Amino acid sequence: MTDKISVIIPCFNESENINNTYERIKENVKKITENFELIFVEDGSTDNSFSKLFSLSNKDKNLKIIKLSRNFGHQNAIFAGLENASGDCIIIIDADLQDPPELFNAMFKKWKDENYQVVYGVRKKRKGNFFKLILYSIYHRLFRIFSNLNNSNDLADFCLIDKKIKNYLINLKEKNIYFRGLRSWIGFKQTGIEYERENRSLGKSKYSIFKLYTLAINGITNFSTKPLSLILFLGFFIFLLSMFLIVFYILQKIFNFEFLGVLPDQVPGFYTLVIILILFGSFNLICLGLIGEYVGRLYEEAKSRPKYFVDEKINFK
Ligand code: UDP
Ligand code: MG
Repeated sequence: MTDKISVIIPCFNESENINNTYERIKENVKKITENFELIFVEDGSTDNSFSKLFSLSNKDKNLKIIKLSRNFGHQNAIFAGLENASGDCIIIIDADLQDPPELFNAMFKKWKDENYQVVYGVRKKRKGNFFKLILYSIYHRLFRIFSNLNNSNDLADFCLIDKKIKNYLINLKEKNIYFRGLRSWIGFKQTGIEYERENRSLGKSKYSIFKLYTLAINGITNFSTKPLSLILFLGFFIFLLSMFLIVFYILQKIFNFEFLGVLPDQVPGFYTLVIILILFGSFNLICLGLIGEYVGRLYEEAKSRPKYFVDEKINFK
């Protein structure tokens, strides 16, 4: 038996895309193997996505549907697909054909011939709304600083993963998922393939600004407690600054020189106020930061992610 391919396609209100998507995906998988399943995850659509899928599924037994009870969001839909995929390798692709199914073959070859366990799509150039592009770029810069993961601007959810990776991913216990981050964090042999991402031809983006915002926050907080550590760092920094200012003001008082055009005697009470303000400001931040450090550690533990993944075992029995 040849290797089985599972394709996971999350759909939310994609009724105008479904027939096209099904045809093009099937056509491209069939070029590789006849042993495949197409898993459409129907993420609580309010249009007739489900009935369209259902009628297709009557004619094609390779088309499977997982209908979720309500809209759980793209990331959860991907996981619902993963948990039900039985292929030796699993492809994840959007239902709007912005990512080309024509890439399946190249991805499959990287997996089959070069033994890559994760083959992800890399967008050559992001297209779309100028405002969104700027936000994406700021976000990904922040993500890299905070998470220590190399999740660049152009990495897509579009990918092929080995079933071993799938098994590890579905056994993670965390609830707020950032798939691209987890995929990169998990390690193993990974590679990217560049492609042009098309604009959506039919329908509108199903990621509302709020969904994007939640995804962004999940992305950063799921991979790092650095924002919390930053509070403590800031506290120490401002504390040092206030020490420096105290010395500076004492010297100014003693030597009575002008600073920003003002002599010490011209503003009574100023020094006491400023010093109290910055000193207590820094104490506040230090305390908050310390609490943050503890909360951060609790958070890491509560996620109970495994500490490592085994790639291979040799000579064990
Ligand atoms: N999607 C989903 N649930 C949602 C939002 C989106 O399953 O709550 C699906 C959607 O149908 C599409 C994919 O996730 O197949 C990517 O969504 P979209 O194309 O809207 O995102 P964009 O390409 O604009 O980032
Ligand atoms: Mg899209």
